[in-house]
Amino acid sequence: PVNRKADVQEARLKLPILAEEQIIMETINENSVTIICGETGSGKTTQVPQFLYEAGYAQGDGIIAVTEPRRVAAISMSYRVATEMNLSSREISYQIRYEGNVTENTKIKFMTDGVLLKEVQKDFLLTKYSVVIIDEAHERSVYTDILIGLLSRIVPLRHKKGNPLKLIIMSATLRVEDFTENRRLFKIVPPVVKVDSRQFPVTIHFNKRTPMEGFLNEAYKKVCKIHKMLPSGGILVFVTGQQEVYTLCKKLKNTFPDNRGQKEHPKEKTKKGRRRKSDKKKEDVMPSINLDNYSVDPIDEEEEREAGEDSDFELLDDIDLDDSVQMSSDEEGQSKQVCTEPLYVLPLFSLLSTEKQAKVFAPPPEGCRLCVIATNVAETSLTIPNIKYVVDTGKVKTKFYDKVTGVSTFKIIWTSKAAANQRAGRAGRVAPGHCYRLYSSAVFNEDFEKFSPAEITRRPVDDLILQMKDMNIEKVVNFPYPTPPDIEQIKAAENLLISLGALAVEQVPRPLSRRGRRKPPDVVSRITPLGRAMACFPVSPRYAKMLSLGHQQGLLPYVVAVVAALSVQEVFIEFHKSSEDKSEFQEKLKYMTQIKRMWAGSNHSLLLGDLMVLLKAVGACEYQGASPEFCEKHGIRYKAMKEIRKLRAQLTNAVNTVIDNANLCVDPKLDPPNDLQAKLLRQIVLAGLADHVAKKCPDPAPNADEEAKKLKHAYFCTELEEPVFIHPLSVLYKQKPEYIVYQYIQETSKVYMKGISAIEPE
Ligand code: ADP
Ligand code: MG
Repeated sequence: PVNRKADVQEARLKLPILAEEQIIMETINENSVTIICGETGSGKTTQVPQFLYEAGYAQGDGIIAVTEPRRVAAISMSYRVATEMNLSSREISYQIRYEGNVTENTKIKFMTDGVLLKEVQKDFLLTKYSVVIIDEAHERSVYTDILIGLLSRIVPLRHKKGNPLKLIIMSATLRVEDFTENRRLFKIVPPVVKVDSRQFPVTIHFNKRTPMEGFLNEAYKKVCKIHKMLPSGGILVFVTGQQEVYTLCKKLKNTFPDNRGQKEHPKEKTKKGRRRKSDKKKEDVMPSINLDNYSVDPIDEEEEREAGEDSDFELLDDIDLDDSVQMSSDEEGQSKQVCTEPLYVLPLFSLLSTEKQAKVFAPPPEGCRLCVIATNVAETSLTIPNIKYVVDTGKVKTKFYDKVTGVSTFKIIWTSKAAANQRAGRAGRVAPGHCYRLYSSAVFNEDFEKFSPAEITRRPVDDLILQMKDMNIEKVVNFPYPTPPDIEQIKAAENLLISLGALAVEQVPRPLSRRGRRKPPDVVSRITPLGRAMACFPVSPRYAKMLSLGHQQGLLPYVVAVVAALSVQEVFIEFHKSSEDKSEFQEKLKYMTQIKRMWAGSNHSLLLGDLMVLLKAVGACEYQGASPEFCEKHGIRYKAMKEIRKLRAQLTNAVNTVIDNANLCVDPKLDPPNDLQAKLLRQIVLAGLADHVAKKCPDPAPNADEEAKKLKHAYFCTELEEPVFIHPLSVLYKQKPEYIVYQYIQETSKVYMKGISAIEPE
């Protein structure tokens, strides 16, 4: 029996899903797979685990597992459910990539989908669990898709063993055909329970015209209008990335300065004012300047979605405010009540520190209007209270990969109709609301796809293929994917894994046919012992290869640190050129370049280049106790450094498990490698990035034609036909060594190589 507090109980009873408890539980009891669809906010994530708990699914040894594609959701939902059930985190726990509070008493375990995938590798039948809930299945994250494929096989196996496992797939949209209509996935069509949404109506206002550019400016104007003209109620703005979030926040804070302190406490005015100003400096100055983007191969898709700010980002012009208070006709009806509250502006995106993220859930200061500027993290997984107005730019930043070469670009594109409707729905949680779409209905109808494509069709799959092979799934092409990736993607992944030595090609003779003829042998690629070792490391296969080589020369502590740093997004703070503080930008840039040069060392062109910078940054930071102040001073993102530390610990454990007698321990204070170590380290790096080598083009003659001049400072790499360039923020930008090895290629204004070390030809 659950002992809920009265206020919790009251709030629960208002959730639409409570009315469906009986139907949901009957369906689950009678079927091994159940699909639940219901609007965001209907209560799926918080209530279904409680229904199961109360129905006895966590009695005995069985644990109720809930997977989330986003870490934020796994953590915040576990706390929310614990609160609602009046239980502690010992019973209602979470586990994300590096941390968790699971105990032997855990009954409900929230985790990221990647964590459960790792568990399948260790215990294919997931015997610990009585139920697995795959939440946010509509997001179609790669791990979610693979888990559903695996669970479609695990569920019948558990049934056979007489220890049945229930699978529940929860989605915020009705688009579930990929799960229900896919006979290879589920032979028996799983029942779908629809939860009526008790949404308040949301009035959609389309722009008459779609601005060709400057959607951020449009968003700014719209928020100004709403705040000045419309009755109180929170505003939620959807933009595409972290940089835009900051730009818009700053703009709005400047326009609507928060001067409450002055009115309420005249005496404290100076003190408060001063403190606020310096706070502002910290928050605004560093992160809003965009220097570089050290994003890396995706192992953390959650962050990948928001990383990769393009430094060519379009800048806001200053806006004449008088111009923006003109109301369009559809708003005039409501503009009688004028809002005089201060605007309380908060950013929200995945890479934001957890404490800052939590602010959006707390009520705004007395008498303030809440305004959250968010990326699509606010679309379905988090419910921000009291939003009445949604401003939707209609845009989403998407990473596109070349399926074969893996070269990535970020593009800002229209989101899907389904996603736009999710965004609109956020305005109708507490009362009737309004959604302002900054694009026309014609664009919505004609240019928006119905749904966003499944992630698995859009990115390289080498990590997945390695994990599947490690589970002895040989014919990865036949895996029951909800949406299969391209055969090309799979081939490219297999080829990479073969070249890394993780897979080996084998010819399997086929039996004689009845007529006594023998067909040509089957060619399969099988996992090698090296591949098995690599699969134990929670990083991309290239980095796993580096780890599995590291023990040879006693270099493991360095390899672990390099791999950890390479695996974390945006180690250095993004500097962004902004028209307001150009000189400040130049200054920061110079300062950063100096630090990086210093870290790279005097003979950096011969040694590790950008990787040495990462190594030294990690070492220096740990040496100083990794304080936020030190990080900020050196342009290092504090949250990234915390992640690197956790990843180092995790990788160290993995190394000790996988490699006999490694006896590695994490010495946070890593001395810089000496020259010999650096050279050996570079060989190891090269082993993981063997196909990422580039050679400099000869400099064009002074009288060369335009076409040839384009090849100045260009490189040719093995993967691409077109020339590529060293990113200007690399420490090797000036040196331009003859041969280099790069971490990855990304196309922004040019095709750039990032994460560069020099190599000497043999
Ligand atoms: P769904 O998963 O269907 O989107 P949730 O179960 O996440 O819905 O949320 C149901 C309701 O619970 C939300 O509408 C919100 O009002 C409330 N809720 C969720 N998380 C919190 C929280 N951290 N604090 C307060 N209320 C919350
Ligand atoms: Mg949910």
